[in-house]
Amino acid sequence: MRLLLLAPPGGGKGTQGERLAARYGVRHIAAGDLLRAEAQAYTPAGREIAIYQARGDLVPDQIVLDALTPAVVEAAAGGGYILDGFPRTLPQASAAAELAARLGVTLDAVVYLYAPEEVLTQRLLGRASQGGRADDVADVIRHRLWVFAETTGPLVPYYTERGILVAVDADQPPDSVTADIQDRLSGLRLTRLRGHGGGAPI
Ligand code: ADP
Repeated sequence: MRLLLLAPPGGGKGTQGERLAARYGVRHIAAGDLLRAEAQAYTPAGREIAIYQARGDLVPDQIVLDALTPAVVEAAAGGGYILDGFPRTLPQASAAAELAARLGVTLDAVVYLYAPEEVLTQRLLGRASQGGRADDVADVIRHRLWVFAETTGPLVPYYTERGILVAVDADQPPDSVTADIQDRLSGLRLTRLRGHGGGAPI
């Protein structure tokens, strides 16, 4: 199973990513977590990453690709992955497609988790009140949501055109979201078994 999770901040990528990875027995690769780990390691790249993350801006594509590619290559060889938060820009999507082609793998589906902006903001503020992340403060949250709409949003039509986008309502309890994702994915598998369409090398 090779999946991509596309969701705005607060959409539940992390929670659903972990569950799907356990369900399908593949690695959960969370871009934000990998980048935060690199930032905490105080490498030269890490110091730069920390600045972008603190502002709620996207980390430059080349740094992201350098940080993520080894994990993707390793997971692809090990049976698959749930990519959470990568790709997040159109150039990253092209680079990911090239990498997949080089590895001879295809993407089964892109799961897009959507929810109203007020719901996302409330979730992130709620997480902040329980000692959440440094970027879970009101003005940075607003900026992250704006960056998502501007820069990551175009990936929705991009993957729709490629016939692999599965949109799921994320404004439900986590178990219902997981159930909806699994239903949609098994529906997709049946359609493919019957010979209508397949994965995409992206
Ligand atoms: P959220 O989706 O709630 O913002 P993440 O942990 O996925 O949480 O991302 C946190 C931050 O990490 C982002 O604001 C950005 O700075 C950086 N980041 C994560 N994934 C990417 C990516 N694919 N490209 C660029 N920056 C990224």
